[in-house]
Amino acid sequence: MDLAGSYISEEKKPNYPQPLILAVEDNDDNLLLITYTLESLGCKLICQTDSFSTLLVAKEYQPDLILMDILLPGLSGIDVVRYLKKEPLTSEIPVIAVTALASPEERERILMAGFDDYISKPYMIEDLEALICRVLGKKLNPQSCFDLH
Ligand code: MN
Repeated sequence: MDLAGSYISEEKKPNYPQPLILAVEDNDDNLLLITYTLESLGCKLICQTDSFSTLLVAKEYQPDLILMDILLPGLSGIDVVRYLKKEPLTSEIPVIAVTALASPEERERILMAGFDDYISKPYMIEDLEALICRVLGKKLNPQSCFDLH
C-alpha cells in the first residue's frame, strides 16, 4: 500500500483508549488547526494532504471518524465519500465534511453524497470540538469534553 503523504501523530503515553481520526486536508494551516483540536481532545491522528490513498488507509486503519475537506488535489471529498460509503469495510465510519463550500445548495449536495455531518470553514475550534464529541460520544475520554458542557 502506498502511504506517501500520510503520517501518524506520535502517541503521548495514553492511559485510556484513544479514538483514531483520519483527517484529509490539503491546506497546512487548516491541518494544523485540526491537529491541535484533535490532540487536545486526546485523539490519535492520521493526516493526509491528498485523497489518493484515503480509501486504502481507511480500510487498513479503521479510524473512528474521518474529517474530510472537499476541494482536494486528485479526487474530491465528494467522490471519496461515495467510495467510502459503498465499501462494506468503511461504510459505517462517520465522515464529516470540513469545507469552505458553504451555500445551502453545496451543503445539500455534500450531505446527499453520504457525509454524516458538515462544518463550514472558517469555524470556531469550539464548534469543531463539539461536533467531534457528538459523533464520537463514549469513545472519547470523558474529561476531554468536560469543558464543553
Ligand atoms: Mn482544500
